[in-house]
Amino acid sequence: MPLQVVKPATSIDLEGFLWREDPSIKEILASSSSLEEARRSLFLYLNQLEWRLYSGEDKLHPLVEAVARDAIRVFKNIISPRNEKLTGYSALYCLWRLAREGRAAAREVDEGFVYEFKHLFKAINGRPDIYPAKYAEGLEQVDFTRIKGRRAGIARSNYLDELARRVREYLKRYPSGLDPEVVKRRRRNVERILQVLGGSPDDWRDYRWHFRNALKGRRGIKVLRELLGLEGEDLEALTKALEHRVPFGITPYYLHLFDLDSPWSHDHQVRRQVLPPLHYVKTMIEHRDDREYYFDFMGEHDTSPHPLITRRYPMVAILKAANTCPQICVYCQRNWEIVTALDPQGIPARKLIDKAIDWFAEHPEIRDVLVTGGDSMILDDATIEHIVKRLSELDHVELIRIGTRILVTVPFRITEELAEMLGSYVEPGKRVISISTHVESAYEVTPEMAEAVYKLRRNGIMVYNQQVYTFWVSRRFETVALRIALKKAGIDPYYTFYPKGKWETKDYLVPVARILQERKEEARLLPGTFRTEEPVFNVPRLGKNHLRAGQDHELIMIRPDGRRVYLWHPWEKNIQLVDPYIYTDMVSIKMYLDKLREVFGEDPEDYKSIWYYY
Ligand code: SF4
Repeated sequence: MPLQVVKPATSIDLEGFLWREDPSIKEILASSSSLEEARRSLFLYLNQLEWRLYSGEDKLHPLVEAVARDAIRVFKNIISPRNEKLTGYSALYCLWRLAREGRAAAREVDEGFVYEFKHLFKAINGRPDIYPAKYAEGLEQVDFTRIKGRRAGIARSNYLDELARRVREYLKRYPSGLDPEVVKRRRRNVERILQVLGGSPDDWRDYRWHFRNALKGRRGIKVLRELLGLEGEDLEALTKALEHRVPFGITPYYLHLFDLDSPWSHDHQVRRQVLPPLHYVKTMIEHRDDREYYFDFMGEHDTSPHPLITRRYPMVAILKAANTCPQICVYCQRNWEIVTALDPQGIPARKLIDKAIDWFAEHPEIRDVLVTGGDSMILDDATIEHIVKRLSELDHVELIRIGTRILVTVPFRITEELAEMLGSYVEPGKRVISISTHVESAYEVTPEMAEAVYKLRRNGIMVYNQQVYTFWVSRRFETVALRIALKKAGIDPYYTFYPKGKWETKDYLVPVARILQERKEEARLLPGTFRTEEPVFNVPRLGKNHLRAGQDHELIMIRPDGRRVYLWHPWEKNIQLVDPYIYTDMVSIKMYLDKLREVFGEDPEDYKSIWYYY
């Protein structure tokens, strides 16, 4: 990815902001006459700091000391020749020049670069800017060495009450679609949409009506202009998308989740899920001819052993039973092959599906089949039954999972008949059927979704959620609000995906550190049964690996534009010598925090520990 120095560090007072955190480093760098001399001296200095930590001289709190040790390891990694070679960048060279040339060199690095090193300097010196978290400021810890028994129990309970109360304050910012106020507002939205599209309340509960009336093409834009007052860049983006056949589509049901009366009150995620930004559309147009390979960043071309099948693991494989969806998520990782919403051409011929199932019959190691696409719930009941029936005839298939976002886009698709039919293929002790869905925010969880889930669960079908962790759902405790809403709707969180992508989806991406921070400082405050998911990083071609498993990734470089570069170990680590994968954060931490402030008015202080997640 090319360098993108967005905000050159020229307006930063390097002395007061950076070097004062560790004047020795400035001295070492400024007095080194060559890069190699600077490298050697800095390594020695870091070794000395490390030894002081191990010898206990500094008497730091063990938690702070752990951060310092990690930071020293990361610093050494970043200045190592090996990682310079791997990444093609040298943060040390930029630092060396900053120390010797000051402002003249600051032009070539982004503010994000300087911020990264400021926090690294703080951390290696045992002064990380972590404690207390902003939401825990002023809270008094219980000192169990001073008080004991019931008194201690009460004090701790009071402390926990206050912590939970503060979290509740955050949660108020993220209403769920189950909240009575939201339900009421959305009833009015339904009336308006039915009026504009010409439908009845009965039509509203009929999934076929939603499929027929999905907003796409010229008519879709006209309706969106009327109902959303769409203008400016959003309108330009849709018009260009239409002209150049970039897929977009919104179901009437999903449209009713928008804040039609007061746009952007709470519906940021909902809007951004389906309204493509102009930048995205332009990139899609630029790559119209090589789209099939340019946007296939998961390398699916290399992981399909048979038409309609993707396989990355020993015991599970994907059957792509429909190459289209009721609506299009802007950041879809299959945007290289999905042509449009509800595309009749996107439904494979029965013969092709049968041949793909024959492949499963010939591969007895596959226990788990994910029937997805696209969205497999776009298929009619007879085709879904045909697939499930044929897979059920294979003794080795113990789990049939249906991958679908239908619970979010048209929950009415889950009819009693469909749920019963699916349930009829569950055989306790032999075969399980489940749904893997994709709910992004609490705002997407509605009574209609809960009703659909209940139908499935009554028929023995469990429902699991995979959230894609985008910028639009990444504020403090926002995903906690989602987990709570999901639980109420009967859905268990399963994965949180770290979304990779190309520059076209930059508006959706977050730095890796944010998802690590969320898991540690937000998810952890919920009871265990609410936070059953695992954050994962999907390595192209190779598959998912656990994101928070420190042993499975290394931070190896800070680029001059402030972006972090990681070396990602594949899940096959310690089993086979498979090459790791180098990944560059699409946005630097500084860019991310700036954008949070710009879009949502967030206070960067609230996220201050993010710099210390490596
Ligand atoms: S539902 Fe899934 S496959 Fe369909 S557009 Fe969204 S992310 Fe892509």
